[in-house]
Amino acid sequence: MSGKLVIGNWKMNTRADSAQALVSALLDHAATNREGVGIAAPAVYLAALAESLKGSRLALSAQDVSRFAADGAYTGETSAAMLADIGCRYVLVGHSERRQYFGEDNAALLQKMRNAIAAGVTPVLCVGETLEQREAGQHLEVIAAQLAILPELTDGDYVIAYEPVWAIGTGKVATLEQIAEIHAFIKNWCLQNIGSSDKIRVLYGGSVKAENAEAILATENVDGALVGGASLDADSFRVVCQAAGKLI
Ligand code: PEP
Repeated sequence: MSGKLVIGNWKMNTRADSAQALVSALLDHAATNREGVGIAAPAVYLAALAESLKGSRLALSAQDVSRFAADGAYTGETSAAMLADIGCRYVLVGHSERRQYFGEDNAALLQKMRNAIAAGVTPVLCVGETLEQREAGQHLEVIAAQLAILPELTDGDYVIAYEPVWAIGTGKVATLEQIAEIHAFIKNWCLQNIGSSDKIRVLYGGSVKAENAEAILATENVDGALVGGASLDADSFRVVCQAAGKLI
């Protein structure tokens, strides 16, 4: 495993023009146009962005994938094979917004992970507790329950993103101690339950921005960042990626 991985999650933002403008700005800089940096763009813009990214090192990512693998009567869905077809290298799976608004559960997420891996798209499984769960002292138990699908995956690479729900889009950032504790817990959980943690990158997500990126990325067991709001601004995202680039 070399270098840190930074993926920008644009969520349901941008239009065709602003998405292209953002990608152009990222392609213009060595800090963002390199291996280890990705953007998770809205599905409708992925194919056009794939054209713009041809020949670059910036990785195209999707924000979601269907739990159905084969082509067929699944109106509105985008399969892993379709994402692979246009050159997506990563896909977010189980982002807390998907769990909250679309009721995604472990059974569906396991299918999504399997489909992505089978298609050659690296899934990024998002896990994290709500504020209520943390205040009730249930955070480790909740995260372990979300990780529980991983031993079902017998082959293929994946990434884990720890994103405390209370820190997403709120401006509240987990303390470095909280981040270190959970990342160590996840690595240890992987060691105990999958037999290895060396190959698995664990990203932190939750209000990562220019001002806090370096400290977060330098925290033990943090292998990169999933960046929401700050990834919509090329300058802010570049500073986060620069911080990641300095830390190998
Ligand atoms: C996210 O959506 O994955 C995220 C971490 O958002 P933000 O950086 O805006 O908190």
